[in-house]
Amino acid sequence: MNLILFGPPGVGKGTQALRLAAAYDLLHISTGDMLRAAIAEGSPLGRTAQKFVESGGLVPDDIIIGLVREVLERLPEEKKGFLLDGFPRTLEQARALDELFRELGIADVRIVMLTAPEHELIDRMLRRGIEQNRKDDSAETIRHRLEVYSAQTEPVKAYYEKSRGVKMADGLGAVDEVTMRIEREIGKP
Ligand code: ADP
Repeated sequence: MNLILFGPPGVGKGTQALRLAAAYDLLHISTGDMLRAAIAEGSPLGRTAQKFVESGGLVPDDIIIGLVREVLERLPEEKKGFLLDGFPRTLEQARALDELFRELGIADVRIVMLTAPEHELIDRMLRRGIEQNRKDDSAETIRHRLEVYSAQTEPVKAYYEKSRGVKMADGLGAVDEVTMRIEREIGKP
């Protein structure tokens, strides 16, 4: 089984992704983590991505699609599948991903969307900004990320509703509780 974890910034995708990847034995692919690692390293990718990530914008589609392609082309045999966290974030990414799935013969992809009210997302990101010192978790940048989400990422939900279907899970409440809700939607490991 392969999973795409989808939802607004701050909804808890990263937290849930780690738990689900462990429980279902999936390779966790977080484009946000990959970009932050590249920025910390100062690699060419990091130098290109830095201004987009830190301002709360999106890294250009061709760069991020190339990055995901490299990972999907070399999936480790020992894992039962993969979990995409933070990708796709635009319609163009979603279309490219479908093409990639076709090319690589990847089937059984389930999409889970996590939800939470906007004020909760903002509170969580502000808290994370302090705890983890993430530059994109400042008040102004958070506002911009939520706008980018509505304009560019939200349409991906309708795209998947028309094809694969989207399983919804409420992201409010204790971390364990949210994990259980997702497991109920996709079936126990
Ligand atoms: P969050 O979901 O909390 O916003 P992420 O760690 O998923 O955090 O992403 C952080 C930032 O990394 C995004 O705001 C964006 O700049 C960049 N990024 C991550 N994934 C993508 C993607 N698929 N396409 C473009 N940019 C991305």
